[in-house]
Amino acid sequence: MSRLKTPSRRPLLWIGLALLGVLALAAWINLPVVGHLFGRSSERVAALPAAAPFRAGQRVLMLSPHPDDETLCCGGMLQQAQAAGAQVYVAWMTAGDGFEFDAALTERTLRPGPENMRALGNTRAAETQRAAAALGIPGDRTFMLGYPDGGLFRLFTTNFSSPYTAPRTRADAVYVRGALTPGAPFTGEALEADLRRVLDRVKPDIVLAPAPQDFHTDHHTLSYIALQLMAERRQADRLRFWVIHGGLEWPVPKGIHETLPLTEPPLADRLPWTRVDLTPEQRARKLEAVRAYRTQTEIEARFMEAFVRANELLSPQPLPESGSGQAASAGE
Ligand SMILES: [Zn+2]
Repeated sequence: MSRLKTPSRRPLLWIGLALLGVLALAAWINLPVVGHLFGRSSERVAALPAAAPFRAGQRVLMLSPHPDDETLCCGGMLQQAQAAGAQVYVAWMTAGDGFEFDAALTERTLRPGPENMRALGNTRAAETQRAAAALGIPGDRTFMLGYPDGGLFRLFTTNFSSPYTAPRTRADAVYVRGALTPGAPFTGEALEADLRRVLDRVKPDIVLAPAPQDFHTDHHTLSYIALQLMAERRQADRLRFWVIHGGLEWPVPKGIHETLPLTEPPLADRLPWTRVDLTPEQRARKLEAVRAYRTQTEIEARFMEAFVRANELLSPQPLPESGSGQAASAGE
Protein backbone atom coordinates (compact mmCIF):
# COMPACT_ATOMS: atom_id res chain seq x y z
CA MET A 1 0.00 0.00 0.00
CA SER A 2 1.64 3.17 -1.17
CA ARG A 3 1.23 6.25 0.88
CA LEU A 4 1.17 8.23 -2.36
CA LYS A 5 -2.17 6.67 -3.17
CA THR A 6 -3.75 8.50 -0.28
CA PRO A 7 -6.06 10.99 -2.05
CA SER A 8 -4.93 13.92 0.12
CA ARG A 9 -1.26 13.42 -0.89
CA ARG A 10 -1.87 13.29 -4.64
CA PRO A 11 -2.13 17.06 -5.27
CA LEU A 12 1.16 17.49 -3.38
CA LEU A 13 2.80 14.96 -5.67
CA TRP A 14 1.66 16.84 -8.78
CA ILE A 15 2.75 20.19 -7.38
CA GLY A 16 6.13 18.66 -6.55
CA LEU A 17 6.51 17.26 -10.06
CA ALA A 18 5.47 20.56 -11.65
CA LEU A 19 8.00 22.41 -9.48
CA LEU A 20 10.73 19.98 -10.49
CA GLY A 21 9.81 20.52 -14.15
CA VAL A 22 10.03 24.30 -13.79
CA LEU A 23 13.38 24.01 -11.99
CA ALA A 24 14.76 21.71 -14.70
CA LEU A 25 13.65 24.13 -17.42
CA ALA A 26 15.15 27.09 -15.56
CA ALA A 27 18.42 25.18 -15.14
CA TRP A 28 18.54 24.30 -18.83
CA ILE A 29 17.90 27.91 -19.87
CA ASN A 30 20.29 29.50 -17.39
CA LEU A 31 23.13 27.14 -16.44
CA PRO A 32 25.95 26.50 -18.92
CA VAL A 33 26.85 23.20 -17.27
CA VAL A 34 23.41 21.77 -18.06
CA GLY A 35 23.76 22.76 -21.69
CA HIS A 36 26.99 20.76 -21.91
CA LEU A 37 25.18 17.60 -20.89
CA PHE A 38 23.05 17.71 -24.01
CA GLY A 39 24.35 16.79 -27.44
CA ARG A 40 27.69 17.68 -28.93
CA SER A 41 26.73 21.16 -30.05
CA SER A 42 29.96 22.82 -28.85
CA GLU A 43 32.09 20.27 -30.70
CA ARG A 44 29.94 20.76 -33.80
CA VAL A 45 30.58 24.52 -33.72
CA ALA A 46 34.33 23.99 -33.34
CA ALA A 47 34.27 21.75 -36.43
CA LEU A 48 32.46 24.30 -38.63
CA PRO A 49 34.51 25.96 -41.37
CA ALA A 50 35.48 29.60 -40.86
CA ALA A 51 33.39 32.09 -42.85
CA ALA A 52 35.08 33.66 -45.89
CA PRO A 53 36.84 36.80 -44.58
CA PHE A 54 35.60 40.23 -45.64
CA ARG A 55 37.85 42.14 -48.03
CA ALA A 56 38.88 45.76 -48.51
CA GLY A 57 36.56 47.66 -50.84
CA GLN A 58 33.62 45.27 -50.38
CA ARG A 59 30.21 46.81 -49.83
CA VAL A 60 28.24 44.92 -47.19
CA LEU A 61 24.52 45.52 -46.68
CA MET A 62 22.79 44.29 -43.54
CA LEU A 63 19.00 43.85 -43.88
CA SER A 64 17.52 44.04 -40.40
CA PRO A 65 13.80 43.43 -39.74
CA HIS A 66 13.84 45.29 -36.38
CA PRO A 67 16.18 47.54 -34.42
CA ASP A 68 18.65 45.17 -32.66
CA ASP A 69 18.65 42.19 -35.08
CA GLU A 70 21.75 43.54 -36.86
CA THR A 71 23.63 43.71 -33.57
CA LEU A 72 22.45 40.36 -32.17
CA CYS A 73 23.25 38.26 -35.23
CA CYS A 74 26.14 40.13 -36.70
CA GLY A 75 27.56 42.86 -34.43
CA GLY A 76 30.96 41.17 -34.43
CA MET A 77 31.24 40.44 -38.13
CA LEU A 78 30.11 43.98 -39.04
CA GLN A 79 33.13 45.25 -37.06
CA GLN A 80 35.39 42.72 -38.77
CA ALA A 81 34.15 43.79 -42.21
CA GLN A 82 35.07 47.41 -41.46
CA ALA A 83 38.41 46.46 -39.96
CA ALA A 84 39.15 44.65 -43.25
CA GLY A 85 38.37 47.85 -45.18
CA ALA A 86 34.81 47.02 -46.29
CA GLN A 87 31.97 49.56 -46.16
CA VAL A 88 29.05 48.46 -44.02
CA TYR A 89 25.47 49.67 -44.50
CA VAL A 90 22.39 48.79 -42.43
CA ALA A 91 18.72 49.02 -43.46
CA TRP A 92 15.99 48.50 -40.84
CA MET A 93 12.61 47.49 -42.25
CA THR A 94 10.65 48.52 -39.13
CA ALA A 95 11.20 50.72 -36.09
CA GLY A 96 10.01 47.96 -33.77
CA ASP A 97 6.81 49.78 -32.85
CA GLY A 98 4.62 46.72 -32.22
CA PHE A 99 5.82 45.67 -28.78
CA GLU A 100 3.03 46.85 -26.45
CA PHE A 101 4.61 45.65 -23.22
CA ASP A 102 7.74 47.59 -24.15
CA ALA A 103 5.73 50.79 -24.72
CA ALA A 104 3.97 50.22 -21.37
CA LEU A 105 7.34 50.18 -19.62
CA THR A 106 9.17 52.90 -21.52
CA GLU A 107 6.18 55.20 -21.74
CA ARG A 108 5.19 54.46 -18.12
CA THR A 109 1.57 53.68 -18.91
CA LEU A 110 -0.58 50.64 -18.26
CA ARG A 111 -2.51 50.85 -21.52
CA PRO A 112 -0.26 52.20 -24.28
CA GLY A 113 -2.27 53.95 -26.99
CA PRO A 114 -1.29 54.65 -30.63
CA GLU A 115 0.65 57.79 -29.64
CA ASN A 116 2.69 55.78 -27.08
CA MET A 117 3.43 53.14 -29.71
CA ARG A 118 4.61 55.80 -32.19
CA ALA A 119 6.77 57.36 -29.49
CA LEU A 120 8.31 53.92 -28.95
CA GLY A 121 8.98 53.67 -32.71
CA ASN A 122 10.83 56.98 -32.68
CA THR A 123 12.79 56.03 -29.56
CA ARG A 124 13.85 52.71 -31.06
CA ALA A 125 14.79 54.43 -34.33
CA ALA A 126 17.07 56.74 -32.31
CA GLU A 127 18.57 53.71 -30.55
CA THR A 128 19.63 52.24 -33.93
CA GLN A 129 21.97 55.21 -34.35
CA ARG A 130 23.63 54.65 -30.99
CA ALA A 131 24.05 50.94 -31.70
CA ALA A 132 25.43 51.61 -35.18
CA ALA A 133 27.91 54.11 -33.71
CA ALA A 134 29.06 51.50 -31.16
CA LEU A 135 29.77 49.16 -34.09
CA GLY A 136 31.62 51.93 -35.97
CA ILE A 137 28.93 52.40 -38.66
CA PRO A 138 28.42 56.07 -39.61
CA GLY A 139 24.84 57.41 -39.64
CA ASP A 140 24.96 58.20 -43.35
CA ARG A 141 25.33 54.49 -44.06
CA THR A 142 22.09 53.61 -42.29
CA PHE A 143 18.53 53.55 -43.63
CA MET A 144 15.39 53.47 -41.47
CA LEU A 145 12.54 52.30 -43.67
CA GLY A 146 9.93 52.48 -40.90
CA TYR A 147 7.32 49.93 -42.04
CA PRO A 148 5.05 48.30 -39.41
CA ASP A 149 6.57 45.96 -36.85
CA GLY A 150 4.68 42.65 -37.07
CA GLY A 151 3.11 43.65 -40.40
CA LEU A 152 5.61 42.64 -43.08
CA PHE A 153 3.76 39.44 -44.04
CA ARG A 154 0.55 41.43 -44.48
CA LEU A 155 2.36 43.89 -46.74
CA PHE A 156 3.41 41.11 -49.08
CA THR A 157 0.03 39.39 -49.11
CA THR A 158 -3.25 41.23 -48.49
CA ASN A 159 -1.70 44.71 -48.50
CA PHE A 160 0.66 44.64 -51.42
CA SER A 161 -1.02 47.67 -53.03
CA SER A 162 -3.64 48.89 -50.55
CA PRO A 163 -2.28 50.38 -47.31
CA TYR A 164 -2.23 48.34 -44.12
CA THR A 165 -3.25 50.03 -40.87
CA ALA A 166 -0.99 48.80 -38.09
CA PRO A 167 -3.20 47.82 -35.13
CA ARG A 168 -0.90 49.23 -32.44
CA THR A 169 0.19 52.60 -33.91
CA ARG A 170 -2.97 53.09 -36.05
CA ALA A 171 -0.53 54.34 -38.71
CA ASP A 172 -0.95 53.44 -42.38
CA ALA A 173 2.12 55.30 -43.64
CA VAL A 174 5.74 55.79 -42.58
CA TYR A 175 5.83 58.28 -39.67
CA VAL A 176 9.24 57.58 -38.06
CA ARG A 177 11.60 60.55 -37.89
CA GLY A 178 14.57 60.22 -40.23
CA ALA A 179 12.87 57.56 -42.41
CA LEU A 180 14.06 56.98 -45.98
CA THR A 181 10.66 57.82 -47.52
CA PRO A 182 8.51 59.77 -45.03
CA GLY A 183 4.79 59.29 -45.67
CA ALA A 184 5.25 56.17 -47.84
CA PRO A 185 2.10 54.03 -47.56
CA PHE A 186 2.29 50.76 -45.64
CA THR A 187 2.17 48.56 -48.76
CA GLY A 188 4.40 45.81 -50.08
CA GLU A 189 4.88 47.88 -53.21
CA ALA A 190 6.28 50.84 -51.25
CA LEU A 191 8.58 48.68 -49.12
CA GLU A 192 9.84 46.91 -52.22
CA ALA A 193 10.49 50.29 -53.90
CA ASP A 194 12.46 51.45 -50.82
CA LEU A 195 14.50 48.27 -50.80
CA ARG A 196 15.33 48.73 -54.47
CA ARG A 197 16.47 52.30 -53.72
CA VAL A 198 18.73 50.98 -50.98
CA LEU A 199 20.15 48.26 -53.24
CA ASP A 200 20.72 50.78 -56.07
CA ARG A 201 22.46 53.18 -53.72
CA VAL A 202 24.63 50.64 -51.87
CA LYS A 203 25.35 48.23 -54.76
CA PRO A 204 26.23 45.53 -52.22
CA ASP A 205 28.74 42.75 -52.83
CA ILE A 206 27.40 40.93 -49.75
CA VAL A 207 23.86 41.08 -48.33
CA LEU A 208 23.24 39.76 -44.82
CA ALA A 209 19.60 38.64 -44.49
CA PRO A 210 17.48 36.53 -42.14
CA ALA A 211 17.26 32.85 -43.09
CA PRO A 212 13.86 31.48 -44.13
CA GLN A 213 14.00 29.15 -41.08
CA ASP A 214 13.86 32.09 -38.62
CA PHE A 215 10.41 31.64 -37.08
CA HIS A 216 9.57 35.32 -36.54
CA THR A 217 7.13 36.22 -39.33
CA ASP A 218 8.80 39.58 -40.09
CA HIS A 219 12.14 37.77 -40.36
CA HIS A 220 11.12 35.05 -42.80
CA THR A 221 9.07 37.51 -44.83
CA LEU A 222 12.17 39.68 -45.24
CA SER A 223 14.13 36.57 -46.16
CA TYR A 224 11.68 35.86 -48.96
CA ILE A 225 11.74 39.41 -50.31
CA ALA A 226 15.54 39.62 -50.14
CA LEU A 227 15.82 36.35 -52.09
CA GLN A 228 13.33 37.65 -54.63
CA LEU A 229 15.03 41.01 -55.18
CA MET A 230 18.55 39.59 -55.34
CA ALA A 231 17.48 36.79 -57.71
CA GLU A 232 15.89 39.40 -59.97
CA ARG A 233 19.31 41.09 -60.13
CA ARG A 234 20.95 37.70 -60.70
CA GLN A 235 22.89 38.30 -57.49
CA ALA A 236 21.32 35.72 -55.19
CA ASP A 237 24.81 34.32 -54.57
CA ARG A 238 25.69 37.53 -52.72
CA LEU A 239 23.23 36.67 -49.94
CA ARG A 240 24.40 35.30 -46.59
CA PHE A 241 21.91 34.16 -43.95
CA TRP A 242 21.59 34.44 -40.16
CA VAL A 243 18.99 33.41 -37.57
CA ILE A 244 17.76 35.10 -34.36
CA HIS A 245 14.57 33.18 -33.55
CA GLY A 246 16.01 29.70 -33.88
CA GLY A 247 13.62 27.63 -31.73
CA LEU A 248 13.75 25.76 -28.39
CA GLU A 249 14.82 28.77 -26.30
CA TRP A 250 17.96 29.08 -28.44
CA PRO A 251 20.50 30.36 -27.59
CA VAL A 252 20.89 28.76 -24.16
CA PRO A 253 22.11 29.51 -21.59
CA LYS A 254 20.67 33.01 -21.40
CA GLY A 255 22.71 35.94 -20.12
CA ILE A 256 26.35 36.84 -20.77
CA HIS A 257 28.58 33.82 -21.43
CA GLU A 258 30.91 35.37 -23.96
CA THR A 259 33.46 32.59 -24.06
CA LEU A 260 30.85 29.94 -24.85
CA PRO A 261 30.26 29.13 -28.52
CA LEU A 262 27.04 30.17 -30.24
CA THR A 263 25.64 26.80 -31.26
CA GLU A 264 23.58 26.08 -34.36
CA PRO A 265 19.92 27.12 -34.04
CA PRO A 266 17.74 23.99 -33.75
CA LEU A 267 15.31 25.15 -36.45
CA ALA A 268 18.12 25.64 -38.95
CA ASP A 269 20.73 23.11 -37.84
CA ARG A 270 21.02 21.61 -41.33
CA LEU A 271 22.15 24.83 -43.00
CA PRO A 272 25.79 24.84 -44.11
CA TRP A 273 26.85 27.19 -41.29
CA THR A 274 30.21 28.90 -41.19
CA ARG A 275 31.78 30.36 -38.07
CA VAL A 276 32.96 33.90 -37.40
CA ASP A 277 35.18 34.02 -34.30
CA LEU A 278 35.14 37.27 -32.34
CA THR A 279 37.98 38.87 -30.41
CA PRO A 280 37.35 40.05 -26.82
CA GLU A 281 37.34 43.66 -28.11
CA GLN A 282 34.73 42.85 -30.74
CA ARG A 283 32.58 41.14 -28.13
CA ALA A 284 32.88 44.17 -25.83
CA ARG A 285 31.73 46.54 -28.59
CA LYS A 286 28.92 44.17 -29.53
CA LEU A 287 27.73 44.20 -25.92
CA GLU A 288 27.91 48.00 -25.95
CA ALA A 289 25.69 48.01 -29.08
CA VAL A 290 23.25 45.58 -27.44
CA ARG A 291 23.00 47.93 -24.46
CA ALA A 292 22.27 50.88 -26.75
CA TYR A 293 18.84 49.26 -27.16
CA ARG A 294 17.73 50.33 -23.72
CA THR A 295 14.00 49.95 -24.47
CA GLN A 296 14.67 46.28 -25.23
CA THR A 297 17.20 45.42 -22.55
CA GLU A 298 14.69 46.61 -19.91
CA ILE A 299 12.62 43.57 -20.89
CA GLU A 300 14.77 40.90 -22.47
CA ALA A 301 18.38 41.69 -21.57
CA ARG A 302 19.28 38.06 -20.89
CA PHE A 303 17.98 36.88 -24.29
CA MET A 304 19.88 39.66 -26.07
CA GLU A 305 23.11 39.23 -24.11
CA ALA A 306 23.09 35.52 -24.96
CA PHE A 307 24.07 36.47 -28.52
CA VAL A 308 27.37 37.93 -27.30
CA ARG A 309 29.34 34.73 -27.69
CA ALA A 310 32.72 33.52 -28.86
CA ASN A 311 31.42 33.27 -32.41
CA GLU A 312 28.64 34.27 -34.77
CA LEU A 313 27.13 32.06 -37.48
CA LEU A 314 26.52 32.74 -41.15
CA SER A 315 25.17 30.44 -43.86
CA PRO A 316 25.95 30.93 -47.56
CA GLN A 317 22.68 29.20 -48.47
CA PRO A 318 19.06 29.66 -47.39
CA LEU A 319 18.30 25.93 -47.48
CA PRO A 320 20.23 22.79 -46.58
CA GLU A 321 22.56 21.68 -49.36
CA SER A 322 20.83 19.38 -51.85
CA GLY A 323 21.46 15.73 -51.25
CA SER A 324 20.95 15.98 -47.50
CA GLY A 325 17.45 14.57 -48.02
CA GLN A 326 16.06 17.20 -45.65
CA ALA A 327 15.63 20.17 -47.93
CA ALA A 328 11.86 19.91 -48.31
CA SER A 329 10.98 19.66 -44.64
CA ALA A 330 13.64 22.04 -43.30
CA GLY A 331 12.72 24.70 -45.84
CA GLU A 332 9.23 25.31 -44.47
ZN1 LIG B 1 13.69 40.94 -35.20
